[in-house]
Amino acid sequence: MSTETNLSFADAHLHTNPVKGLGAEKVAKLMIEKNLWFAAIVSLPHWDYGIELKSMEDYRKIFDIHIGECLKAKQKGLVVSCFAGLHPAEIDRLIDKGMPHERVFELSVQILDFLFKSCEEGVIQGVGEVGRQHYNVRPDKALIAQLVLEHAIMKSNEHDCLLQLHMENIKGFTAWSMKLLLEKINGKKNLIIFHHMKPGVIEDVNKLGFFTTTPAHIDSLEVVFKRSDINYLLIESDYTDEPSFKRNIIEPWRIPDIEKELVNRGVIGLDELYRINIDNVEKAFDVKY
Ligand SMILES: [Zn+2]
Ligand SMILES: [Zn+2]
Repeated sequence: MSTETNLSFADAHLHTNPVKGLGAEKVAKLMIEKNLWFAAIVSLPHWDYGIELKSMEDYRKIFDIHIGECLKAKQKGLVVSCFAGLHPAEIDRLIDKGMPHERVFELSVQILDFLFKSCEEGVIQGVGEVGRQHYNVRPDKALIAQLVLEHAIMKSNEHDCLLQLHMENIKGFTAWSMKLLLEKINGKKNLIIFHHMKPGVIEDVNKLGFFTTTPAHIDSLEVVFKRSDINYLLIESDYTDEPSFKRNIIEPWRIPDIEKELVNRGVIGLDELYRINIDNVEKAFDVKY
């Protein structure tokens, strides 16, 4: 039986930025103080590190910074799953900057191949964010993102490596399209985590047996707790570690209070929160509490 005082919490998707933000050391310290035990730390788009992405060498700089961040959070005492990826918004940016489409695809594939190799070697624990834009884009950008996504899914199976997907949230489409894609390549469902899934789509995705992360916004979380299959549910802050940036930010260290508030409202029980924060995290990320 879980009691409120002994419950530990997890953040299944957050970013830390040592260049412009607090960085992993401070973020991890604040999280541990609030009784969080686990963090899946995901790399940021290249511009957030103040790095221009033109070549594989540029990407390696980003990768090294990010690996350093994961290590710092681990040293502070968090269990960390380190994810590095290429966000669909980066594909947009490369095209906007005039990089030829063929080169954008070639560089993306190079980056992914490097990442999946690093994952197999245990340098990182997963690849992501990779996926499709959740906003309207030109068809060429959407198609390149789709081609890159297909490559990532193939590689994820080849290397038996977790993949956090950034997808649009379209009811009746998002989950179904991934099911089709996986069937085509005989891909494994347990390697895929759908990030940032909202009410309306999360039900679709869970029904197909995929793990999902969902933002710890109290209002949407209240709906998610009522509608989704909690056996496949993970909670994320999607914190971007840019304190000066006024946005609807959820700091990872606020997750426990948000979840506890929903217990107080009678939306969810402590035992269910234990399953989400411990059992599901252990299962989805292959880690030990
Ligand atoms: Zn995202
Ligand atoms: Zn993110």
